[in-house]
Amino acid sequence: MALTLDIPTQRTTASTLPQLDLSRLEFGQTFSDHMLVVDYHDGSWQQPRIVPYGPFEVSPANSALHYGQAIFEGMKAYKNSEGAITLFRPLDNLRRLNLSAERMCMPAVPEELFMQGLLQLIRVDAEWVPNAPGTSLYIRPFMFATDGMLGVRPSSTYRFVIITCPVAAFFNKPLRVRFEEKYVRSAEGGAGFAKNAGNYGAAMYPTKLAQQDGYNQLLWTDASEHRFIEESGTMNVMFVVDGRLITPAVSSSILDGITRKSVLQLARDWGMTVEERKVSSVEILEAQANGTLQEAFGVGTAVTIAPIAVIGYRGQDFELLPLSDDSFARRVSAALTDIRVGSAPDEHNWMVSI
Ligand SMILES: *Cc1c(COP(=O)(O)O)cnc(C)c1O
Repeated sequence: MALTLDIPTQRTTASTLPQLDLSRLEFGQTFSDHMLVVDYHDGSWQQPRIVPYGPFEVSPANSALHYGQAIFEGMKAYKNSEGAITLFRPLDNLRRLNLSAERMCMPAVPEELFMQGLLQLIRVDAEWVPNAPGTSLYIRPFMFATDGMLGVRPSSTYRFVIITCPVAAFFNKPLRVRFEEKYVRSAEGGAGFAKNAGNYGAAMYPTKLAQQDGYNQLLWTDASEHRFIEESGTMNVMFVVDGRLITPAVSSSILDGITRKSVLQLARDWGMTVEERKVSSVEILEAQANGTLQEAFGVGTAVTIAPIAVIGYRGQDFELLPLSDDSFARRVSAALTDIRVGSAPDEHNWMVSI
C-alpha cells in the first residue's frame, strides 16, 4: 500500500468512551465514537471520510430496504499487553466482501480504500480496542444500495461504511442445536456463500421455532435432500470423529468462513487428518451412537469456537461428552488467541499491524 489516502476526520466532541463498561457489554450494542463512510456514484468511489458514529438519512424508496442489496463483513482487532493493535486476516474479509458484492451486483471495494479506511478508523478509535484477555474490537464493514427508486434493478449508487464495537470476553455456554429438515438457509446456486442481508432475515423464523423448543440454533442441512450438514446457525460446523477433523466442504450454499480455514490450517500444521467433504446427519448420529464422535463445535469470528453439547434429531436429543482441556476445540481456540495477541509466532502471516 504505497499510496496513502487522505481521509478527512471529523472528531466527535461528545465521546462516549468514559461510559464504556466492559463488564456489562452486550454484543453489538455499544459502538465506538467514529465510523468510516464512502459513497459510490457516477461509476466511482468518492472521498472517504471518518465522522462521528451516528444515523444516516435514506430515501423512503431506498432500494436496499425494498430489495435487499446489502452486504456485510465481520472481523476483529486485538490489542496486546503492550498496547499494539493487530487485525486478523483482513484481506480475506475484503476478498469475501467483494465476492458478496459481485453476487449482489454491487461495486467492488478497492484494497487501498478498504485497508487504509480501516487502519485510519482503528487508529482514531484506538482507545476503544480493549486489551483484557478475551476482549477485542468487533469490526463491521457493510455496503448498501442508496438509489431512491422502486424499479427492481441494481442501484447505481451505494454507501460503504465501517462501524466498530468493543466486545467483552464472554463465556459461551455449550450449544444445544437441532437438525433442520424443513426450512433451508440457502440452496446450491443461491447466495448462501455471500454475507448478504437477506440470508440472515430468512433464517430468523426457523431459528425462532427451534428456540421455542429449547435449542440455541439450527444445524442447517442441504436444501434438496436435508441429508447433508451445511452450517450451524451463522457459523461453520466441525466434528472430531475418531481423531479426524471433519467439516462440510464449502459450496455455493455454505459460507467460506475465515475462522474455518484458520482452524483447518492449524489442524493440518499439527498433523491431524482433515476431511472437507459432504457430511450427513446420519453419519454424525452413527458416530455418536458408536462412541467415535468426540467433539462438535461451531466456528466463526464472533465466538471463535462454540462447543456443541446437545444435538436434536427428529424429537430426540443426543448429548455429547463435555470437552476436555486437551480437546482439539480447546487447543485450537487457545492457539488462535495466542497468535492474535502475539504470544505465539504468526507462521502464516495472518496478523496485520495497525
Ligand atoms: C460470517 C459467517 C460465518 C463465519 O465466517 P468467519 O469468517 O469465520 O467469521 C459462517 N457462516 C455464516 C453463515 C456466516 O455469516
